[in-house]
Amino acid sequence: MIYIQKRRTPDVVKSKAAEIINTPDSGYASISLPEDTKQLRDLFDKMPKDEIRRALCKEQHGLCAYCMRRIEPRYDSTKIEHYMALSESKQKALDYQNYLGVCYGGERDERGKVYVLCCDAARKEHALTINPWNKRQMEAIGYKRNGEIFIRSDKGLDAQLVMDMQTDLDKVLVLNGMKNAEGKVISDTASKLIAVRRGIYDSVCSQFERWDKKKCLNKDFLKGKIEYLEKQLQGDELAEPYIGVRLYFYRQKYNRLK
Ligand SMILES: [Zn+2]
Repeated sequence: MIYIQKRRTPDVVKSKAAEIINTPDSGYASISLPEDTKQLRDLFDKMPKDEIRRALCKEQHGLCAYCMRRIEPRYDSTKIEHYMALSESKQKALDYQNYLGVCYGGERDERGKVYVLCCDAARKEHALTINPWNKRQMEAIGYKRNGEIFIRSDKGLDAQLVMDMQTDLDKVLVLNGMKNAEGKVISDTASKLIAVRRGIYDSVCSQFERWDKKKCLNKDFLKGKIEYLEKQLQGDELAEPYIGVRLYFYRQKYNRLK
């Protein structure tokens, strides 16, 4: 997960939402949740979704807001996720500022023996504490050598918040696959998230070895590599998938170098 800077609502999205809300015939006014969730979803389906997907993919640099997998602005690649679930808030259901672009969570991947879904496919309507628009929270994201994602307890977040965020990662968004009662991973997600992150760790390790042999692994050199990645998270750049993992290990190394 990485920090997402939310942008302004595209005009066509704003005006369509206003039209639905202000047209008496739309039925919006009489909707009451949770019983009218289906009617509200029908109204949401009238929103200009292609435009929404395009805007979300752009502001998220082409990455799923939860797992950082590549998403493309097409209906079969990007789901429009309501951060506050549609069944929870009528006001936010048609509000672009409540939307995230997310992947299909493995629903469209080949089925393995154990079929573990992640992201929205796992979350469904469950409320979240972890929030990709919250910079402080996102700065506390870390990765282990074995490919697991975790919340760091040394970044000044309240202990309860750290626990709640970790629960969201493990149990709600299922970004660490399936774990047994002892907390050991027994199955990766259908999208192979743990294996991919472990692969990035391995590739970073061999890079470090290579650079070390060439005697170029110093703070200035690594700073350049970090800035190259950070640049992908600015403007309308497309970022490499799972960029947060590589950035994390680079920054860790950077802090350890003299
Ligand atoms: Zn995802």
